[in-house]
Amino acid sequence: MSTTSYPLPQTSALDQQTQAFPKLTPAQIDRIRPYGKPRQVFPGEILFEVADEHISMFVLLSGRLEVVQPTCSSERQLVKHEPSGFSGEIAMISGRRSLARGRVTEAGEFLEVSQENLRSLIAKDAELSEIFMRAYILRRLLLITHGFGDVVVLGSMHCGGTLRLREFLSRNGHPYTYIDLDTDSHAQEILDRFNVSSKEVPVLICRGTKVLRTPTPLEVADCLGLNNPVDESQVRDVIVVGGGPSGLAAAVYAASEGLSVLVIETNAPGGQAGSSSKIENYLGFPTGVSGNELAARALNQAQKFGAQMMVAHDVVRLHCDRRPYQIELDNGQKLITRTVVIASGAQYNKPDIPNRAKFEGVGVYYGATNMEAPLCEGEEVVVVGGGNSAGQAAVYLSERARHLYMLVRSEQLAETMSRYLIERIENNPKITVQYNSEIVGLDGDWHLENVQWRNKATGEVKTCPIRHVFLMTGAVPSTKWLEDCLALDSKGFIITGPDLLSGNGDGSKWTATRPPYLLETSLPGVFAAGDVRSGNVKRVASAVGEGSISVHLVHRVLAEG
Ligand SMILES: Cc1cc2nc3c(=O)[nH]c(=O)nc-3n(C[C@H](O)[C@H](O)[C@H](O)COP(=O)(O)OP(=O)(O)OC[C@H]3O[C@@H](n4cnc5c(N)ncnc54)[C@H](O)[C@@H]3O)c2cc1C
Repeated sequence: MSTTSYPLPQTSALDQQTQAFPKLTPAQIDRIRPYGKPRQVFPGEILFEVADEHISMFVLLSGRLEVVQPTCSSERQLVKHEPSGFSGEIAMISGRRSLARGRVTEAGEFLEVSQENLRSLIAKDAELSEIFMRAYILRRLLLITHGFGDVVVLGSMHCGGTLRLREFLSRNGHPYTYIDLDTDSHAQEILDRFNVSSKEVPVLICRGTKVLRTPTPLEVADCLGLNNPVDESQVRDVIVVGGGPSGLAAAVYAASEGLSVLVIETNAPGGQAGSSSKIENYLGFPTGVSGNELAARALNQAQKFGAQMMVAHDVVRLHCDRRPYQIELDNGQKLITRTVVIASGAQYNKPDIPNRAKFEGVGVYYGATNMEAPLCEGEEVVVVGGGNSAGQAAVYLSERARHLYMLVRSEQLAETMSRYLIERIENNPKITVQYNSEIVGLDGDWHLENVQWRNKATGEVKTCPIRHVFLMTGAVPSTKWLEDCLALDSKGFIITGPDLLSGNGDGSKWTATRPPYLLETSLPGVFAAGDVRSGNVKRVASAVGEGSISVHLVHRVLAEG
């Protein structure tokens, strides 16, 4: 069964059930009426099918509706709606395809509300917005926790692709059932049924029919309909490149302020923050929040306001020689936009260690989340790095690991590491910090089995039978796709605002008559926010702050005409 950190309002199980399937009051239904059309319904009538797009929401004035999921041989019932109830789940807001079939079981009258009208209603009516959003998030969560999706993943610990595939589905909030081929006794039978060899694992069975072998994120996104078609002729107000904290913040503010906005994300929403087990310094979350949960909340928020999201697509080029600007995707599609927010952040460094690539996903990891942590149960683990993300990973993984070695190249933990993390590491008997140490070797057959590290001061090389290494060794900016379009600093980060005209910037690239706005790059109307920006403080809060400020500046550029 899949696990995920999808946002769960903090209530008891009983409350959750009530809040997932609330009854609307007559006054609330009256407020919905102007947005819907009355429809007489009859027993057996199918109102929506699995994989249908743009399905309507139905408010039951009288009669009954059952929602089921077809299985190979029959159907499983998900819910029975009664009068004053309403249909739908988060796909109504995200615009994704239906995961279920809706069948009338008792004649009556329903109020049919299109997705477009539902969005208008949510934007205008705060009370109904809260009821619908909470119900839809909780319903999706129930689907996820019970594995009631239209997807089955057959995977194995022997292949790194399994972890990546599960992460992709989780980060996109898509429910799925996981079958572990290493432990499931019927696994071979399942593989035989679909004619799959062990080399083709992981396998994703999409909607019970299509079988994808070692699928790419794009193949999964296409099969599940995660992306809605985009209109290439539309000139958008703003395109946001990257769906990490800064990109999602820009999307929330832009969409809530009435701008047409599209976010394009290489993989799945969340960015680097999505690989964080617990962010403890983000305002308003005193007990911490996982990066995945924060991203899922932000994504729902952005989509509630009408932001469009495209996942599993790389932006490969910004055509900067004309306005409106053109954004080119990996499939050759070109999208036109008046302004751009570049929120492409940074990518983790992949240090030059022999065999590193061979063990990615099977012993070598770049994030420590609830996906990777269970693999370390009762085992010895190595975390490489002395910065905040390494510290956070060490503290988190030490809860499950038998013992954890932190390999730090210098003589101390990074000066930038938060005080609270340093104290937790120093006081944790399960963590040993090895200063002056660097990893030099990784060995094993199909899975990592031995790790070698060297003490730079003494030259001593130590080999330990360790099966899990977390590489948290900093990041480089994701700006290669920009070619020569923008002024970058010596490390490749984007120079913005007043820095462009200072001694450090490349002032000759700024050609407009007015000075650049705060987060504006050397191209007027193109902004940079978050980790990708030169001088940015590499924190979730600053990424979110800059994402939202950039939208304020986008308005100014749009007003220039
Ligand atoms: C393990 C870890 C733990 C952390 N813990 C904390 C913490 O506790 N507190 C804290 O404040 N900060 C923490 N950070 C730092 C924080 O996560 C980052 O500062 C923040 O995520 C930056 O957000 P961003 O949106 O600017 O960039 P990113 O998070 O890097 O997101 C950029 C996004 O852009 C996408 N992208 C890149 N290139 C393209 C392209 N060409 N086309 C389309 N999409 C593209 C990427 O796939 C990515 O999703 C942590 C970082 C890590 C790695």
